[in-house]
Amino acid sequence: MPISRRKMFQSVTLAGMAASAAAAAPPADEPKLAELPDFKYDIESQTHWVGPGGSAKEATVAEFPISQSIAGVSMRLKPGAMRELHWHSLAAEWAYMLEGRCRVTVITPEGQAEVADFEVGDTWYFPRGHGHALQGLGPGECHFLLGFDNGHFSEFGTFSVTDWIASAPPDVVARNLNLSLAQLAQFPRKEVYIGTGRVPPAAPPALRNADLQPSQFSHKYRLLDQPAIKLEGGTERIVSSREFPIQTTLTASRLDLEPGALRELHWHPHADEWQYYIRGRARVGIFGSHGRAKTEEFGPGQIAFIPQGYGHYVDSLGPEPTEVLILFNSGVYQEISLSAWLGANPAHLLEDNFSAPADVVSRLPVKSKGMLGRRG
Ligand code: MN
Ligand code: MN
Repeated sequence: MPISRRKMFQSVTLAGMAASAAAAAPPADEPKLAELPDFKYDIESQTHWVGPGGSAKEATVAEFPISQSIAGVSMRLKPGAMRELHWHSLAAEWAYMLEGRCRVTVITPEGQAEVADFEVGDTWYFPRGHGHALQGLGPGECHFLLGFDNGHFSEFGTFSVTDWIASAPPDVVARNLNLSLAQLAQFPRKEVYIGTGRVPPAAPPALRNADLQPSQFSHKYRLLDQPAIKLEGGTERIVSSREFPIQTTLTASRLDLEPGALRELHWHPHADEWQYYIRGRARVGIFGSHGRAKTEEFGPGQIAFIPQGYGHYVDSLGPEPTEVLILFNSGVYQEISLSAWLGANPAHLLEDNFSAPADVVSRLPVKSKGMLGRRG
């Protein structure tokens, strides 16, 4: 049975109506607002970090200033190559596997551990500070998209194990690691970041500490295996903290639009939206109040950022289907659509608001379809 969008978002719509009723009238004399900033960034056309084990391309506030709340990284690992042991002090990490396979190890503050393998369509979520490492399983290179719930995660917030060991006093580290100074001197003298390594066996080898408890909350969620919400012009999958309990600060979504489909005009009351285009072409328009609007076209490897509360839509241009990965910087999903809003008002009010005759207003939608199919 298809999941009902209306049922899913009913409580959200009521909350949103209460909020809009409480909004204050605009002041008579308003200062002129700045132009809307760029909301498009081409992450895949950049070169950021390339090494023998793989590569990484970043979209942080340094590259994409509008994206204060969410940063992205497109990372590739060769078979056996590892993104070394590290944590992020400022951000939780989400990922979606685009190609290939990789293995993850993670430790939690409760001293629990998890080892999990990821294939195309799988996602992970590491709460801020959970220590983790990634390794390509082969046979080919793996490619995944990372998302962080802080646009500043990278320059101030990534802590690697080799960086720490190389920069702390050797006598302290040697004592802590039960090594002689000569043995410690063989360790890397600077951050490895992405290193080469051996392809691990198919069955994960035993952890060094056999007494560790498995993590009570999985860091893995198979997003693409979640039944999709079927809409007129495509499908949508939404993974919030309700479906994936550990993912408390982000909601992930995958939107699949048929050529010509339109993701309806809507906004998100309490979250920014970050989009990565996997495939296809789409036109996205944002509305930032006071007559300010901006439209851009997006294709594979390009990112969009839509500030919280800004009106927007996604218009799939074809000829291919359009596939989009989306992050919201909240573990709870909310949206209000224009169509639903129009249905939540009496006809006479809309007739006066739009200076439109009754037969025109009677044509307007009364509820949200989420997406409209290709124009007849
Ligand atoms: Mn990480
Ligand atoms: Mn949206």
